[in-house]
Amino acid sequence: MSHPKLILSTVLGIIVFTGFVAAQQAQFMSPPPICDLKDPEQMRVWAEYGAVFISKDIKMPNTCIFDGQPAIDVYLKTTKLEALSISDLRTFKLRPLARQSLEKVFVKMQAKGGYRAVVRLCNTRKVGECTNDVNGDFALRNYKQTADNWTRNKVTFIANNGVKFTSDNPSNAQIVSVEVKSGEKPFMYSYAIPGASQHILGLAIDVKNGTGINGDSGYCETDCVKALADNYWYRTVRGDKYHFTYLGYPPEELRKRGLKTVQCDHEKARGLDQFIYWVPNISDYKGYENWPCKEVPWPL
Ligand SMILES: [Zn+2]
Repeated sequence: MSHPKLILSTVLGIIVFTGFVAAQQAQFMSPPPICDLKDPEQMRVWAEYGAVFISKDIKMPNTCIFDGQPAIDVYLKTTKLEALSISDLRTFKLRPLARQSLEKVFVKMQAKGGYRAVVRLCNTRKVGECTNDVNGDFALRNYKQTADNWTRNKVTFIANNGVKFTSDNPSNAQIVSVEVKSGEKPFMYSYAIPGASQHILGLAIDVKNGTGINGDSGYCETDCVKALADNYWYRTVRGDKYHFTYLGYPPEELRKRGLKTVQCDHEKARGLDQFIYWVPNISDYKGYENWPCKEVPWPL
């Protein structure tokens, strides 16, 4: 004896359930094959910087972490970059869509000072040391620049993090394994492992909207964030408030591609509620438990 209505509703139920499961699964990000997730350093790179791998404008590298400038040179030989010149400041290079969209941001922010209201003009918080110049490494970065940033700052991290290292000169792997347990802001939230920076890919800029001194926060806030987001630039490295990445898609598309928006407890506790980061939605990654960040709606 057949029950057509029952069969139909069962079939519909299966279709709806399957669709629901697919929609849920689609919200997790697939790891890019270039990252070996058994390697703790590469796992961290994917978890912390991995949003860039879904960028509409990415030329996918063949490695998660470049091991030196020769590998980057090989990559850049086949990677189209376009120059963006800003009148009295230097020319810098980005991927084509990233460059075009950043130019639109400068135009949109014209009333507030154009590029001067967006790009990082200064990389110091010391009074009197700011010059009216764009940092050489605010957009595209080479291996030495990423290594210098890491090396210069790891000494302070080692001294302050409260976790003893077995060596006076710990390896990057040792630092990566300790930083997530130290209770401090993880080191990688300000400095990329050498060769792993999003800046190498021509898809990232550091934004400093102001000097960052004398009561000026220096952070890109409401209008600046909106102008960047309208052109598909977003904060993507939790804790790195200066750093923006060209992802190339509107928010609903980013969720479909496996990203989620988070706000970090440490920043919220300091009244810094405005910082929302688009990060890979990885269900079982525990690396950032000591610097927890909660999923929040995208407010724009
Ligand atoms: Zn950056």
